[in-house]
Amino acid sequence: MEATRLALDLAGTIRHDGHGGVADDLADTAGLAAWLHDRAGTLDRAEGGPPPADPALLTAVREVRAALRALCARAVHPAPPSSADAHHLLPEDQALARLNAAAARVPTAPRLTWEPGVPPVLRHLPVGAPPAADRLTAALARAALALLGGPDRERLRACPAPRCVRYFVKEHARQEWCTPSCGNRARVARHHRRRRAVER
Ligand SMILES: [Zn+2]
Repeated sequence: MEATRLALDLAGTIRHDGHGGVADDLADTAGLAAWLHDRAGTLDRAEGGPPPADPALLTAVREVRAALRALCARAVHPAPPSSADAHHLLPEDQALARLNAAAARVPTAPRLTWEPGVPPVLRHLPVGAPPAADRLTAALARAALALLGGPDRERLRACPAPRCVRYFVKEHARQEWCTPSCGNRARVARHHRRRRAVER
């Protein structure tokens, strides 16, 4: 589902940096501009193109992300949340209020398009002409609400591989890690732990 992908993508802007630390793709406006540029296709189709990445938009997007990650932590409970922000999560009631408010800022209406030769497409598009920044923030909040309020929530997991901080939705019942590379890293770590235990 497109909403789930977009929500996971936003949550995943806090990620393992490849050296044992945590990187934030949305640390500054340049990071936000790059992130929006890479998703121009998705956001264009849904929302009429990304707005300029200014400090106000950066704050708004980071606020939606913090609320989303707090509620992802709630969704995966009693399993542990992503370690990236486990110790400074937004309170759940504030996270809920924030996402609902951001989504409500831009009312939407269903619109069906049906090009020749392809199946019809149903979208929920903003009503009127809201500011581009509100449109984007609301679209991200709606994606977060769709993930948390829909069936994908039950398959949401925090990847348990060493150093990984990603939330993902399980694609099949036996999937344990967000990606095969995380699975390999987890197996190697387990192997070393066992060997150390034997050598002791
Ligand atoms: Zn992972």
